[in-house]
Formats: sequence, C-alpha cells, structure tokens
Amino acid sequence: MYDVIIIGAGVTGCAVARELARRERSVAVLERGLDVCEGTSKANSGIVHAGHDAHPGTWKARFNVEGSLLMEELSKELDFPYRRNTSLVIGFDEEDRRTLEGLLAQGLENGVKGLELWDGSRVREKEPQLSDAVTCALYCPTGGIVDPFLLTVALAENACVGGVSFFFGEEVTELCRAGEGFVLKTARGGSYETRAVVNAAGVYADVFHNMVSEDKVHITPRKGEYLLMDKKTTGFVNATIFQCPTKMGKGILVTPTVHGNLLLGPTSEDIADKENTETTAAGLEEVLAKAGLSAKELPVRQVITSFTGLRAHSDNGDFIVGEAADCPGFFDAAGIESPGLTSAPAIGRYLAERINERFPAPEKTDFIAVRKGIPCMADADPEERKRLVAENPLYANVVCRCELVTEGEIVEAIRRPVGAKTLDGIKRRVRAGMGRCQAGFCTPKQMEILARELGVEEEAIVKSGPGARLLTGYTKSNIS
Ligand SMILES: Cc1cc2nc3c(=O)[nH]c(=O)nc-3n(C[C@H](O)[C@H](O)[C@H](O)COP(=O)(O)OP(=O)(O)OC[C@H]3O[C@@H](n4cnc5c(N)ncnc54)[C@H](O)[C@@H]3O)c2cc1C
Repeated sequence: MYDVIIIGAGVTGCAVARELARRERSVAVLERGLDVCEGTSKANSGIVHAGHDAHPGTWKARFNVEGSLLMEELSKELDFPYRRNTSLVIGFDEEDRRTLEGLLAQGLENGVKGLELWDGSRVREKEPQLSDAVTCALYCPTGGIVDPFLLTVALAENACVGGVSFFFGEEVTELCRAGEGFVLKTARGGSYETRAVVNAAGVYADVFHNMVSEDKVHITPRKGEYLLMDKKTTGFVNATIFQCPTKMGKGILVTPTVHGNLLLGPTSEDIADKENTETTAAGLEEVLAKAGLSAKELPVRQVITSFTGLRAHSDNGDFIVGEAADCPGFFDAAGIESPGLTSAPAIGRYLAERINERFPAPEKTDFIAVRKGIPCMADADPEERKRLVAENPLYANVVCRCELVTEGEIVEAIRRPVGAKTLDGIKRRVRAGMGRCQAGFCTPKQMEILARELGVEEEAIVKSGPGARLLTGYTKSNIS
C-alpha cells in the first residue's frame, strides 16, 4: 500500500514526485516507458515562457508565471542547463501591433515583469538576422530556455534519492476505487494499492480521469513538428523569436536551444491518434516556410533531425489541476500542454500542497534538495578535464565525437539513480548521439557499454521502448 502513486514520469509527474518526497510517505511512479521523459516532455521547444500568452485567471497563467520565476533557482539546486535568453514576439503589420499590445496588457495582468513594445529597427539591432519585414515586437526579458530532458531527469533523480520508487515498463490499464483508496493494474500483471493517485499521464490523462470521475474530460493530441539544426548555427539568433499567436497556439518559432543548436517549429494540428509522432514532408515544409518569414537566410543545410511532439489539449483549453470533485484522493495534472514545461515546478508544488492537506505527513528532516549533474567534458576547461581523467580514466575515452561525450559520462548516466537503460536514455542525459551524425558512429560503442553495465546481451539493447531493438542476431550465427 503506497500513500501516493503517480501515473506518468514526464516532467509533471517527476516534479510532483520531487515535492512529495519532502514528507514522510511512500510514493511510487508508474511509467509505461523504459525511462523518464518518454512522452511530450521529450519533444517540445524547451522554452521557459515569460507568461504573457495565457489568459489572465487561468491555471496556465498562474502556473506559467510561477514556474518561470522558480526555474532559475531550481536550475541551480538541481544543476540542469537553463538560460534566460529573452524572447521577442514579432509583428509584421498594424494588426500584429494590436495583437502585441493585447499581449503586453495580458502579460502585465499576469504579473510578467519588464515587457516592452519595440519598433522594427530596435528589434533588428538586437537580432540582425530577423526579416526586414518585421515592424514591431514584444520584448520579454524573463523568457528563457531549458534542457527539457535534464530538467525531467534532475527532478526524477532527486525524487528517487528522496525515497520515491520508480517502476518502468508498467503501463497502467485499470484504475478503480477500493475502499478509501485505489487499485491500479498494469499490462504486465502488476497490482498496486494506494491511498492517493496523481494523474500525470500526458495525452492519456483523460482516460484515467474518466475511469474514476463522472465529470468527463477530453484531451485532443495536438501535433507539433520540428526541425533541429547543427550547433554550427550557434548565434544565428540569441533570443527566442515567436510570431503572433493564433487560436492553435504560439506559432512557429525560431530559437536557440540551451546547447547552441537552432530549433524551428512547431506546427499545430489536431489529430485523433495519441501515438502519432511521425513527421511529414508537408509539416516540415510549413515549418521552413513560416520560420523563413521571421528570419533571413535560414541555414537549412544544417538540419540534423526532425521530430514531433503531442500537446495534451483539453477541450476548455486550460490545465486541469487538483483533486477531482467527485473522487477524493484522485489528483489531476491533465491537459498539460504548453506552457507545461515551464509550469511543472509550480504544478508540482501546488499538487503536493493539496495532497499534504488531505493526507498530512511530517516533513523529512533529511531531505536533500540539491543534486549535482554529470560532469561534461565538452564544457570543461583543461584543468577540469585533467582532474576528471585523473579521477576516472574512462573520461579520456571519447565515444561520441560530434558532442565530445566520453565513456565516463555514459557510464555515469547509466549508474545514476533512475539511470539510463536505453540509447535514448543516454542521449538525453549526456548528449551522446545528439550531434551532427545522430549516433551514426557511436551507436555500436554505446550498445557495448550499455550491455556491459546492465549485464545483458547486446541484442537486448533498445533505442527507446521495448519494441525498439537494434540487433536481431549475428549475421554468421546460423553457419554451423
Ligand atoms: C510541440 C510542443 C511544444 C511545446 N513547447 C513547450 C515549451 O516551449 N515550453 C513549455 O513550457 N511547454 C511546452 N510544451 C508543453 C510541454 O512539453 C508539456 O506540457 C509537458 O512536457 C507535459 O509533461 P507531462 O509530464 O504532463 O506529460 P508527458 O511528458 O507526456 O508525460 C506523461 C507520461 O505518462 C506516461 N503514460 C501515459 N500513459 C500511461 C499509462 N497507461 N501507464 C503508465 N504511464 C503512462 C507516458 O509514457 C509519459 O511518460 C510543448 C508541447 C508540445 C507538444
């Protein structure tokens, strides 16, 4: 019997887990993937939104602004990459200017600090690469960028060190009331009892909500396709460049990532299939065409990969957060579309407070709120590199040449609490395979290290989920 079970180890579930770990209680996270950050949290823009976009009075507005304020401190506590690079919402004509004035007023009402309306020449002074057609912009000094993988991993690691149990490959298929609590059943036969449930299942959160509440909700997967460019594009733009929002979202952006890549996207298309993360020629053409309106001479030859994320869009367009009115002990974090990454630290705190009210538990005296990231050879200065190699010679063995990732870092990624068990898990923790060749060269070596560290055969190594095996056997194994 757990005190709390969280369904889903995305950024929301992990943020809630970390906050719950501060008290004396048993907490488990059930995740159908083999790792944390396997849903929408792995496929988004990585923007810490300033908070001008959400309508005042909504959960989105509240958690966006609170989360944005919490992010810098959190990045220091948990040692993940975050940078306040500022953002610009650009406009091309009078209608856009009126939209920007509306966003400015909305931002002020939401409590966003430092917003200013700029004219086209001031915008181009800051960002020379922007189109000559830009006539105005909303400048947002509190806008930032974050590594969405490491934010999620850091929250999970810290929660795990704080006593939270993570169960992977556990797809919850049934949830029902049992006395005062709940029973959850999983696809591979697991059965878990708990006093409280946190529903952080991303695009599937409506399924779980509707299993226990009569107040039905509906989530539409809203697809967003992206193009990611090589680090050679570092400095193309420094701020995050948005176009004016539409009813389908914040539009196509041009932004640096926190690691110096350039990211273009996302599109916005409502679909029916909650698993459809394919990219399409039409979607990627749209990304290039619309991003090309914002910036001159897009470095299109530097594209290294494309990907798709699914926004969990609720019918009323707002987050659904809190205890279900007709099901005490069931707490939703549903409909968490953008700005969900930004909002996660604030949603985590809010839900933990509500759970503490209903199920009081003493605060732990020994909770460790800080976590140190994995040392990064690529960013280390020569002295630091020498020190790392002296401590662990595996830090001298470069595995991923594009991103300069060593065997020492990969081993550390695997051995950490809630460590990597897949190639994608390594990639998201230490960037091996994230560079120009997209793991073309280093995959075999990474598989060898994973197999060695996990104590399994190389054939058992997967890219991400259980079906994503890379080897089916050895070419000459049938020769007698
Ligand atoms: C295109 C796009 C761009 C975005 N850009 C931004 C941005 O720049 N800034 C920002 O703040 N936000 C952004 N967002 C929103 C942000 O990415 C999400 O709000 C956030 O990642 C949601 O996290 P989550 O943990 O709620 O959901 P998820 O990350 O989807 O996690 C849900 C987890 O539940 C698991 N799960 C599902 N069903 C089951 C089951 N039956 N049993 C067990 N586990 C299950 C899944 O495997 C998954 O790991 C964007 C989203 C998209 C799609």
